[in-house]
Formats: sequence, structure tokens, C-alpha cells
Amino acid sequence: MSTHQAGPREPALTGATRLTGVIGWPVAHSLSPRMHNAAFVALGLDWAYVPLPVRPGDVGRAVRGLSALGFAGANVTVPHKQVVLPYMDEVTPIAAAVGAVNTIVVRPDGSLLGDNTDGAGFADDLLAQDTGLRLPACRCILVGAGGAAHAIAYALAEAGAAVMVTNRTQSRAEDLRRSIQKALPAARIDVVVFPGAPAREADLIVNATSLGLHPDVDPLPWDSSVGFRAGQVVYDLVYTGRTPLLAFAEACGAHAISGLGMLVHQGARAFELWTGERAPVDVMAAAVAARPQ
Ligand code: NAP
Repeated sequence: MSTHQAGPREPALTGATRLTGVIGWPVAHSLSPRMHNAAFVALGLDWAYVPLPVRPGDVGRAVRGLSALGFAGANVTVPHKQVVLPYMDEVTPIAAAVGAVNTIVVRPDGSLLGDNTDGAGFADDLLAQDTGLRLPACRCILVGAGGAAHAIAYALAEAGAAVMVTNRTQSRAEDLRRSIQKALPAARIDVVVFPGAPAREADLIVNATSLGLHPDVDPLPWDSSVGFRAGQVVYDLVYTGRTPLLAFAEACGAHAISGLGMLVHQGARAFELWTGERAPVDVMAAAVAARPQ
């Protein structure tokens, strides 16, 4: 009996099929293949997207092989987003500032452009969620200082928001602040020890830690005695559904948003970089919503 789980719709493969995929370790859990393949089918494109499990240590060889294998591009996920950077021929200013690549474009001459669509995907989703937030007037608390937090901090600061970063390891929050301030000198960004009063004043709280991925064992990435207030927007980058943080935020009357929309929008940005076509965002969202549990 086959254990293959077909996506909602899969492209037919031909000798001329343009290939894309996701490089990570592991990648079996990735929702990106079903999301991009549904988009290719919807637009009638002879393109396909495949999972590419690449062991740590093999990243350079894998990335250099993309052009020879005729790939149009690839996404990069955990744990390789930072590791691929030196193998790019050119990186966009945002990928350089964030220190991570999540999208590789193979250009017609075979050279590799490294980009990062995570921050823009987050901002696109926030806009699509109709929260009423105006980012230039927004006070944000960003919890976390890893790769995703860098991308979010860049997007928020670039949009003019005031960003307060807090992280378990404070030195990493300081590193994040320095790199964003260097890339965007006008950025309004500070490091805070776990916020008491500012927490109630913030308009937007973003969880960019990995807490919530394992809801049975993970503590909340937030002090429940501080809580949230009605009107605050709480965005959890974890995209497994209604996390304990989102359930808690809802119980406090806040507007809770899952990272699934960011996943779709960062993918839509990558899709457009590779194909030059407008991404069918609704099709992509439906494909990830229909994922097997
Ligand atoms: P990362 O670089 O490994 O950073 C992990 C962050 O989580 C760090 O700030 C780390 O703090 C913090 N953390 C980990 N365990 C913790 C704990 N027990 N207590 C407190 N803080 C803890 O990971 P990443 O790539 O930034 O990803 C972070 C999350 O964003 C993941 O859940 C990932 O799936 C999600 N993500 C979602 C999207 C999307 O499209 N929705 C895109 C990218 C990432 P320290 O610095 O102290 O270690």
C-alpha cells in the first residue's frame, strides 16, 4: 500500500517542467510543496515544487547544484537559512540585514540571488487581516531574537513602527537591535527586559520564538499575569493552528492571529520572484488549510 499523501492538486511532470523546491532538514513536514504545487496547477504553469532534504554539511553542494539541475529557485528552511548565505552570488539588502535567506532565485545566467520574504510575508498578512493597525503609529513588542525575529523586526522598523525586542538570551536581542539599526538607521528599536507596563500599552505583540510548536510541554512565551488587553493584536508565528498563546490572547479579548497567513504570503512573494506571475494567494491558503492532520 502506498503511503504517498497527494496534495490537493499536483502538477503533471514533463521534460520541460520548471523545478523549485525547499531545502531543509528535515522537510517532510513542510506545507510548501502542496501550497506551491496548487498554485502552479491553478495558473496552468508547467512547474513543480519538491521537498529537498539536505543534511547539514551538504548545503554548499546542494545549493551549487541548483543551477546545473535546471532549478528556477528554491526556498530554504530550518536549519539552513543562515548557512546558505555565503553560497549566494548576490543577496538583497533585506537578506543581508536579516542574515538569512529563505528564497533563492536562479537567474538566467545560473547565478544565485538570495532573498528573504519572511518579513514582507508577515507585513502582507497583517495588512490582509484587517486589524485596523497603522504600522507607522504602531508600538510593537517582539518576543524572540532568532532568524524569524530579525525578519519581522526589519519589516516593522522599515514600516516606521516602534519595536521593543525581548528575548530569553538578552545578548541576542542586543545583536538583533544592532543589525537592524545598522541597516535602517532611522529604525525605532529598543531592547527591553520582559515588559511590564509597555506590554499593556503595545498595539501589537508578536511571538517569534519557537514556543508553541510543542503545546503539551512548551510554556507560554508571555507572562500570563501581565495578560493582554482588548484591542491588542497578538500574532503567533507558529503556524500549527490555535496555539496556547492564541487561545490565551482570545480569552483576554485580544485579536489573535496564527502564522499560517505569513507562511502563505512569504510563499506568494517567492512564487512571484520565480515565475513573474501574480500568486494565487487564495488557492495557496486553501491548500495549506486542507493539510492532513
Ligand atoms: P530560531 O532562529 O531558532 O530562534 C528561536 C527563538 O526562540 C529564539 O529567540 C530563542 O531564544 C527562542 N526560544 C527557543 N526556546 C525557548 C524557550 N524555551 N524559552 C524562551 N525562548 C525560547 O528560530 P526561527 O527560525 O527564528 O523560528 C522561530 C519560530 O518562527 C518557529 O516556530 C518557526 O516555525 C516560526 N516561523 C514561522 C514562519 C511563518 O511563515 N509563519 C516563518 C519563519 C519562522 P534564545 O535566543 O534565548 O535561544
